[in-house]
Amino acid sequence: MKKNAFDVALEQLAEAIEYMKLESKIHEIMKEPMAQLTVRIPVRMDNGEVEIFTGFRFQHNTALGPTRGGTRFHSEETPEDVKALSLWMTLKNALNEIPNGGAKGGVIVDPHKLSQHELERLCRGYIRKIAPIIGAWKDFPGADIGTSAQTQSWMMDEWEAMNMHHEAGGISGKMMVLGGSRGRQEATSRGLLFATRELVKARGVEMKSLTAVVQGFGKVGWHLAKLYQMDGVKVLAVSDVDTAIYDPKGLDLLDIHEYVERSGTLRGYPKAMEIGNGELLELECDILAPCAVQNVITEENAPRIKAKFLIEGANGPTTPEAEKILIDKGVFIAPDIWANSGGTQVAHFERIQNLNDDNWSEEEVNAKLERINHKVFNEIYALYTEKNISMRLACWIKAISKVVEAMKARGWV
Ligand code: NAD
Repeated sequence: MKKNAFDVALEQLAEAIEYMKLESKIHEIMKEPMAQLTVRIPVRMDNGEVEIFTGFRFQHNTALGPTRGGTRFHSEETPEDVKALSLWMTLKNALNEIPNGGAKGGVIVDPHKLSQHELERLCRGYIRKIAPIIGAWKDFPGADIGTSAQTQSWMMDEWEAMNMHHEAGGISGKMMVLGGSRGRQEATSRGLLFATRELVKARGVEMKSLTAVVQGFGKVGWHLAKLYQMDGVKVLAVSDVDTAIYDPKGLDLLDIHEYVERSGTLRGYPKAMEIGNGELLELECDILAPCAVQNVITEENAPRIKAKFLIEGANGPTTPEAEKILIDKGVFIAPDIWANSGGTQVAHFERIQNLNDDNWSEEEVNAKLERINHKVFNEIYALYTEKNISMRLACWIKAISKVVEAMKARGWV
């Protein structure tokens, strides 16, 4: 049976707990979210009918502080995915020095099939239903697959209307005019760029000599492909849920972006070769950056992957079996909870600015992000070389140690 994201997260957790020789109580408490809310959201559609959507908000661990994590609007969203993502968020926050626990939300919906009015009503309905457990000192939802600065702004407006006061720190990823942070749009991709530079430098290679393939042409994939190109990396292929496009001479990313803005899909793009999403992962390239969904690199396709660097833009793109195969092949991996933490980091900066009525320049945001990314890399790279373990295990050890320290300080374990 195909593994889901939660199966993968539990395997990763078990490996780290065993390596760290931690007591079973710690394993028990970290296996499941501490709070799980499932909601039904009735939404009046434009045709007058009411449709009922299912949504989730799970809070994994609150030892380090109030929880944070994005909301996914995806047609194949499942409670297992949300559980896995909430656990990864706890670790992402702990590893990257963010004083928060991890949470995640989701709604089973294809947002592209809704009109803007329907989407707005769904966002507002979702917030009304999860209101009992969110707030600036409890849990603050951010953006993820299928959500955007616009959905976040509607969510914040609904939250503030319900509470009858302003509370910009309660929702992150908002539009600038409502307290969003400069640099947030590109933050996850910029963090991925910094992570790529660290790995490439550690291997003594130059960015501008490299080629890259990026899966996913959404918020993360598009900006990352563009930033790679600005660093002199030749981007050979990108994809979306419908198709993948490839040009061994390098893609014209701005032209592709304009095409997607117009047509809503990469399908039919006339100036590159169409290939499959699976084929894309196996292309000859230096950097492979999966920036779409989880579990795309498995034991089935890992033996055929040719990239030298794997940069995990998506959460959980690689199964544990695939990771072993890739490590044996000498692939250097930037694990998700470090590599793609830029968005979480800048969402945290957004909250600091909101709580202080402040507003930072983009240079300041990017410089802070780079400094933390570099510091965390040095810590995990030292552990990776000293203990001869995987980069992922190094990340998990660092993160779990911090969560355990907080749980012990609170007397939970
Ligand atoms: P998005 O909705 O903006 O883009 C997702 C992209 O993936 C789109 O191009 C979509 O067509 C494609 N896609 C969707 N389902 C697919 C499938 N089954 N196969 C292949 N492609 C598929 O989402 P995003 O915000 O860019 O997030 C992408 C990934 O990055 C997710 O795993 C998300 O959890 C992770 N991530 C996002 C952020 C963030 O700040 N947005 C931060 C950290 C991690």
